[in-house]
This record gives sequence, C-alpha cells and structure tokens, in this order.
Amino acid sequence: MIVGVPKEIKSSEGRVGMTPAGVFELVKNYHTVYVQSGAGEGSGFFDKDYQQAGATVLDTIEQVYAKSDMIVKVKEPIAEEYDLVQEGQIVFTYFHFASSEALTQAMIKSKGICIAYETVEDEEGTLPLLTPMSEVAGRMAIQQGAKYLEKPVKGRGVLLGGVPGVAPGRVLILGAGTVGIQAAKMAAGLGAHVTILDVNMKRLRYVNDIMPSHVVTEFSNEFNIRKHIQSHDLIIGGVLLKGAKAPNLITRDMLKDMRPGTVIVDVAVDQGGCVETTKPTTHGNPVYIIDDVVHYCVANMPGAVPYTSTVALTNVTLPYVLKLANMGWRSACNLDKTLAKGLNIVEGEVVYKEIVEAFHWES
Ligand code: NAD
Repeated sequence: MIVGVPKEIKSSEGRVGMTPAGVFELVKNYHTVYVQSGAGEGSGFFDKDYQQAGATVLDTIEQVYAKSDMIVKVKEPIAEEYDLVQEGQIVFTYFHFASSEALTQAMIKSKGICIAYETVEDEEGTLPLLTPMSEVAGRMAIQQGAKYLEKPVKGRGVLLGGVPGVAPGRVLILGAGTVGIQAAKMAAGLGAHVTILDVNMKRLRYVNDIMPSHVVTEFSNEFNIRKHIQSHDLIIGGVLLKGAKAPNLITRDMLKDMRPGTVIVDVAVDQGGCVETTKPTTHGNPVYIIDDVVHYCVANMPGAVPYTSTVALTNVTLPYVLKLANMGWRSACNLDKTLAKGLNIVEGEVVYKEIVEAFHWES
C-alpha cells in the first residue's frame, strides 16, 4: 500500500502522524511511504531522518494526498484539506466528527474511509488511541501547576516538594483515571502530599495498592471536595463521564473558600471542565485569575510537548496502521473489532451512530 504523511496545517500543531521508526516498519513490510517535506519538524524529525528510514519526501500536501492509498495524520482535516481527500482513500486520524458538521459533510462528500483514533475502542470500553494523550496531559498538569504556584505568576508561592523543615505542598486530584493517576505519580515523585478522589471504588483501590503512602484516596462527594479545597495548593481536574459534559464539581461559590494563589489545572476543559469557572485557554495565554484563584485550562495540553506526544501517539497507532496497510481496511476491520469501532464514515455513509445522533439527523 502507499501511505502518505502530510504536514499538520492546523494552527499551533507540532505533532506528526508518523515517526521515522514507523516509516521503517512500513517499508520493512514492503509498503511505500510519502512524507511531506517539513512534516516532522515540529516534533524534531527532519526530512533526512524520514529518507534514511526509507520514505520518499514530497514537496506539497497536494502531492501526498494525490499519491496515497492511506493518509496517516494527527488532527482532523481542516477546510483547506477537505477537497484533497479522494474516493476510497483511507484517512486515519483524530476526527471528533460530532463537534463539526462541516467536516462531517465534507468527508461524506469525499467518499473516503474515515477511521477515527478517538473511537477505536477495545472490549473493556477503553480507548487505546486516546490514552497516551491523557497520560501526557496528566503528567504535564503537575509540571504546569508547579510553575503557576510561583509568586511572580500570582501563585501561592509554594514549592510542591517542600524542603527539610517545611511541609510539602498539597495536591488535590479529582478523578483517578488516566489523567489522575499520571498526575498523582508526578506529584508524589516531587514529594507533594496528594489527595485523589473518585466515585469508582475499583479505581481508588487500585491507586491505594500502587501509590506510596503520601498519596491518600477518598471518595468523591461535595462534602469532601468542599473540605479539601481549603487546604490544598494545587487542584487537578481529571474527571470524565463518557460521552457527556464533565460535572461541575467545583462551583463558583467555592473559590472564596480557597486560599489566594491556589492553582486549578482543569485538564477536563475539553469536555467543558469540572470547575464552573473553567473556560478554554491556549498555550499562548494559558491562565486567568478569578477570586485570586489561578485557572490553567489549556484544551490541547499535549501540543506543548510535540516530541513526546508524537512518539506516544505513534507507538499506539502504528500496529493499526500496519494492519490496515497489510490487509486493506475491510479485512483489517473484519478481523479486529477494536479497529472496526474506529470506522466513522465509509464511502459517503456515516456508520458511527453517535455522529448521526449528534446532528439530530434521521438514521
Ligand atoms: P478516564 O476515563 O481515564 O478517567 C476519568 C475518571 O473520572 C474515572 O476514573 C471516573 O470514575 C472519574 N469520575 C467520574 N465522575 C467523577 C466524580 N464525580 N468525581 C471524581 N471522579 C469522577 O479519563 P481520562 O483519560 O483520565 O481523561 C480525563 C479528562 O481529561 C477527559 O475529559 C479528557 O478528555 C481530558 N483530557 C484533556 C486533555 C487536554 O489537553 N486538556 C488531554 C487529554 C485528556
């Protein structure tokens, strides 16, 4: 198969759909790979790295789309790319169709095969191609939170790890899922005191089993949240209700109970956030302050660390890319039910019912 890797043209996107290691594997399996010149630069991979791995570098995005049976990328195609997708061409990327009717209509019109990373789902209901981005965001949440706790950026002036003779900072984590556990691990590693809340007892038992004793689990309810926000320096929002808006666990009136300079990193901002005062921010302007509480609400946190994010993402996408290239999409999806869940639009037809429901179309 001929596989194409275009440069991401969505603004501030430094990730790329395939690393030179991925190219090497595809070429080893007798496939041809075309990479657009400069596609990997944002992640620290240069044209010569791709060429050494066996790819052919093409000058323009138009050439990559025109020559490829399958396009492997990161973000959904933006308007300039809509007409580049060809009939029968596989496009394997994050699509998030439910949030854009224009994109959905354009991909229906293209008659391409749209396989969405975010809906690839295994038998346990986990989303293996979303997990690495939650891992990145969870770990980053502590790094960013620690930075904004510093006084010059209006934080409380607390060093998370403390020093001999001074108690460590206190981190409250809402949600013990992927984001929450990765955040807890980083905070604990810095020596902070960590309290982690969830409504799922299985998750709390797991955290209790694997974390050191300065990571304390408690059940998530309003009483406990109101109690802990008064004594914690950094609060991480990592809750998720699948397919729904995040619940507002911290309401506006609670901010006044926090100490001035408390920092909230609401990672769940992409699902509306679990703090009533959350509104999406960007890496260019990541924080704002309400009632002396610093809010960090960047909706695409992994975008700030494109090298790590690209490698983490392509580690999990490559096995599926290889399957699609080796077998073609029909046989690959027939044999692999996890991958088949990624099929969203096939040759002009929406095959993922949540998309039809999102736009209230007749099915
Ligand atoms: P996950 O499903 O692994 O974990 C979510 C956890 O929240 C679960 O353990 C669940 O039991 C818990 N939860 C549900 N209701 C709760 C409540 N009332 N109180 C406490 N816990 C509750 O999800 P995840 O992968 O960790 O993702 C968390 C959020 O982070 C999602 O909204 C995801 O989209 C978002 N995210 C954001 C970025 C970003 O750049 N901002 C990046 C990656 C993920």
